Amino acid sequence: GQEQPKASVTRIRAQSTILGSMTKLLVANRGEIPIRIFRTAHELSMLTVAVYSHEDRLSMFRQKADEAYQIGTTGQYTPVQAYLQMDEIIKIAKAHGVSMIHPGYGFLSENSEFARKVIDAGITWIGPSPDVIDALGDKVSARKIAIECDVPVVPGTPGPIEDVEHAKEFVMKYGYPVIIKAAFGGGGRGMRVVREGDDIRDAFLRATSEAKTAFGNGTCFIERFLDKPKHIEVQLLGDSAGNVVHLFERDCSVQRRHQKVVEIAPAKDLPSDVRDAILADAVKLATSVNYCNAGTAEFLVDSQNRHYFIEINPRIQVEHTITEEITGIDIVAAQIQIAAGALLPQLGLTQDRITTRGFAIQCRITTEDPLRNFQPDTGKIEVYRSSGGNGVRLDGGNGFAGAIISPHYDSMLVKCTCSGSTYEIARRKVIRALVEFRIRGVKTNIPFLLALLTHETFIKGSCWTTFIDDTPGLFD
Ligand code: ADP
Repeated sequence: GQEQPKASVTRIRAQSTILGSMTKLLVANRGEIPIRIFRTAHELSMLTVAVYSHEDRLSMFRQKADEAYQIGTTGQYTPVQAYLQMDEIIKIAKAHGVSMIHPGYGFLSENSEFARKVIDAGITWIGPSPDVIDALGDKVSARKIAIECDVPVVPGTPGPIEDVEHAKEFVMKYGYPVIIKAAFGGGGRGMRVVREGDDIRDAFLRATSEAKTAFGNGTCFIERFLDKPKHIEVQLLGDSAGNVVHLFERDCSVQRRHQKVVEIAPAKDLPSDVRDAILADAVKLATSVNYCNAGTAEFLVDSQNRHYFIEINPRIQVEHTITEEITGIDIVAAQIQIAAGALLPQLGLTQDRITTRGFAIQCRITTEDPLRNFQPDTGKIEVYRSSGGNGVRLDGGNGFAGAIISPHYDSMLVKCTCSGSTYEIARRKVIRALVEFRIRGVKTNIPFLLALLTHETFIKGSCWTTFIDDTPGLFD
């Protein structure tokens, strides 16, 4: 046709000044996060590549990419190991002209060796530099950086604990309860709370040996275990020129066994001076290491509103969606463009231009049976009708009739994010959205989420990190 839709063509060209259709992006991950990333990549006129394990050959995420390749030959790797095959993944990337790799979250996302291999292969790594990943990936070294920047940390051992005597000394000085943490732990694993009367020797030996098995490194340190804190984290973006901005905070206090269940942005009822101090400390930390790309600084806030840094996650997080909803910023697009060399001001991302609107709440819908102690359920999804409508955003992939939920991977099915002009409107919307789901064939945690969202403590927005664990009657 003669008539070209000029406005949209111009807009697409403008977006593609740095990238464009010659750019191929591979996501070294599985499940919902590749789909999330492919969506943005397609909007940026990029081509997309999925890699998958044999067990994932029928999963949705591989269909959502322009090209998809199995990692290794059938039976060569276990379902999880497939996604940890750095050389295999890079080989696929090189064979198919991939120019950028996004690691998602989990798997290789915090693996500096992988980042180095990607860069050495001449491929753009979408994440902070390997040296920054090293400096922050280890919680002991991240603590040191925070202390050097005058950012408060939870009282704890200055370095790794060498032996049980050292652990005992700390407890004598600070008292119980304490938390033994694996320096290389993550995802709520590698932590052990020790209370008055518990055997510290036993706890220390167990923590060290578990950390060694799970993370390949047994290094542990000890912190005071704070009583009923809130978990407040700050979304950060940095560029290659040293500019750093924050995209405000998220309240991720609603957790089960140290793992996030429901996330809220911004934090409700956080006094503005406390918020400002946390945001400023997050920016200060990221600036001090020349942080480039997206990351999250995590803090705990105690009942007296004192905040303590706990860690920086040098990657996209599961709950980035709620920040996108309140700021209108596509964090994945920013990640890709920053990796391609764009500076924050060129992307319009200067601090004065970043504002928030309303509230967003995300629930992680999992195929776990809340009546059987959240045991993962598996099998075929017989019926799948998802919710929609005003203010509802769904990030999923494997939720469809006929999908097989396998026992091989984590049990997150779909993230349901709802936004509204107030906390209460967002809360009601997410309840409505959850009620609208019809999922049969596998059990989900939706009934539990509904009990939580209608609990008076959640209504007030005053959950603390151990609220679910402290409230046995929440769901029976
Ligand atoms: P991970 O890297 O596994 O996510 P984090 O250090 O981020 O571990 O901590 C996860 C959660 O564990 C926190 O949100 C909080 O609920 C709990 N936690 C960690 N450190 C402490 C502490 N010192 N006191 C109380 N709770 C803590």
